[in-house]
Amino acid sequence: MRKVRYEEMRPDELVAAREQAPLVYFPIGSLEYHGFHLPFGFDTIHAYELCLQAVQQTGGVVLPPTYWGTEGHIGWPGSLLLSNGTIAGIVGDVLSQLDQQNFKLIVICTGHYPRVQGLLIQGIADRYMDRHPASRIILLDPFNLHPTDPRSEHAGIIETSAMLHMRPELVDMAQLDRPDALEAISGDCVDATVEYGQTRFETVLSEMVRTVKDELEALSCGTDKPSK
Ligand SMILES: [Zn+2]
Repeated sequence: MRKVRYEEMRPDELVAAREQAPLVYFPIGSLEYHGFHLPFGFDTIHAYELCLQAVQQTGGVVLPPTYWGTEGHIGWPGSLLLSNGTIAGIVGDVLSQLDQQNFKLIVICTGHYPRVQGLLIQGIADRYMDRHPASRIILLDPFNLHPTDPRSEHAGIIETSAMLHMRPELVDMAQLDRPDALEAISGDCVDATVEYGQTRFETVLSEMVRTVKDELEALSCGTDKPSK
C-alpha cells in the first residue's frame, strides 16, 4: 500500500503523491465527552479513518488528524474544547502553509458536530479561496455526506455503530448499564451494531470518494465546482 500519511513522507514522496493527485485531506474533530461507552477522540478518529480510506481511491495525502475542536459538550467528563478563535487560528495557519505546497484541492473533513465548527471552518475556507482563486477547499462531514439519511447525532446509534466498525476495542457497551449512561447523548446508542456501522461507513466513504473525484475532475478541466 502506498504511503499516504503526510508526517511519514519525505520531500520526494510528497512531490510524487502531489503529481498523482494535487489533493490533501485535513481531518479535524474534537476531544469531547461521547457518553461513557465511547472514547473522547471519537469525532477525530471517525474523520481520520474516512480520510485514510478515501485517499486510497483518490490519491493525494492525509495530514495528521487534529483533535482540537470547538464548542459542544463543554464541562462534561473528559471534554477539552478550545475557543473558536484558537480553532480558527489552527485551520487558517495550516491552510496558509499548504498554499506554498502547491496543492490544488484541500478536503477538510470534520467529524465534530455541533454545526458551529463546520460554519467556522467554512468561513475560513471561503475567505481563503477569495484570496487564492487557484485553490479549492471543500468541507465534508460524515453526517451530511450520507446521500439518503443525512442526520447528525451525538454518541447515538450512528457514532456508536461507526466505532464498533472502526475500532471495536475502544467501545465498552457495558458502560450503558450505568444509570446516567444516556445523559447528554442520543439514547438510540443502545441499538448500535457493527453491521449498521459498516454499511453506513461504506456509504459515506463512497459518497466522499465520488465528491472528491468530481472536484479533482473539475479542477483538471478548469471548470467551476461541479453541481451535486
Ligand atoms: Zn461526535
